[in-house]
Amino acid sequence: MKILQTTEELINYRKTLKQDTGFVPTMGALHQGHISLIKTSISNNQNTIVSIFVNPTQFLEGEDFTTYPNRYQADLKICELAGVDALFIPNIDDIYFKNEPSIIAPMKQSYILEGERRPKHFDGVLQVVLKLLNLTKATNAYFGKKDAQQLFLIQNMVKTLFIDTNIVPCEIIRDENGLALSSRNTYLSDAEKQKALNISKSLKIASKEMIKGELNVEVIKEKMSEILSELQIEYIEITNRKFEKIEKIILKDSIVLVAAKVGTTRLIDNMWV
Ligand code: AMP
Repeated sequence: MKILQTTEELINYRKTLKQDTGFVPTMGALHQGHISLIKTSISNNQNTIVSIFVNPTQFLEGEDFTTYPNRYQADLKICELAGVDALFIPNIDDIYFKNEPSIIAPMKQSYILEGERRPKHFDGVLQVVLKLLNLTKATNAYFGKKDAQQLFLIQNMVKTLFIDTNIVPCEIIRDENGLALSSRNTYLSDAEKQKALNISKSLKIASKEMIKGELNVEVIKEKMSEILSELQIEYIEITNRKFEKIEKIILKDSIVLVAAKVGTTRLIDNMWV
């Protein structure tokens, strides 16, 4: 596996590639969620590039940018064992310049839900993803449905800025108890992990209600909020897949989304229905 530390090294490497390139951008502290994206890329492309870059512009003041888990040695092994062709680990100064144009995510979908709690977060996400897609010129880039709003905004950016990369959504990977995997789960104590399970349980309750025929958004949100009462709920929302408000669930076109804090750790999860 090649280790690429600068944008120049990445560009030179990419120029040697003749066939399909798959790209998996991450912030490191890799877990089975990331590994599933990596494996999907490896099975569908001749070459797979993974990046590890904790992107400063997507963190707000007071968030965990400086304490974000760093597991570089373990990540390196994971990528090597998975069969990754190249690992890109740039410094901040390689990616960002003093004077550069910025990307502003569409207000309508980037200042609701996650964006309402984390203003400008998605501007930072799009800024770095655009740079990484331009650098890798990937044929396919893999993103988790876990970050549903992020995925939507990236798909929108790729479409509207005519970026020549196919965005591939990947399923949410959970632990054996149902907790959606996240690098931030390492912040949770055992007791907090137990509490956090109520997030995926609330999604299961929503699913059961829908199977029974209940499609009223407010009724389902109410049932979900009961099981989430021990957590600090940030939002429980059900939207269509364009993140627009709905009153009645339209099956195969809706998303149930939850964000909640367990102690000081903020967790998100969702279910595509
Ligand atoms: P991150 O390192 O948190 O920026 O995540 C990198 C990519 O992995 C993003 O596209 C995430 O949506 C995806 N990802 C993170 N957690 C999971 C998970 N549990 N299942 C599937 N994809 C995930």
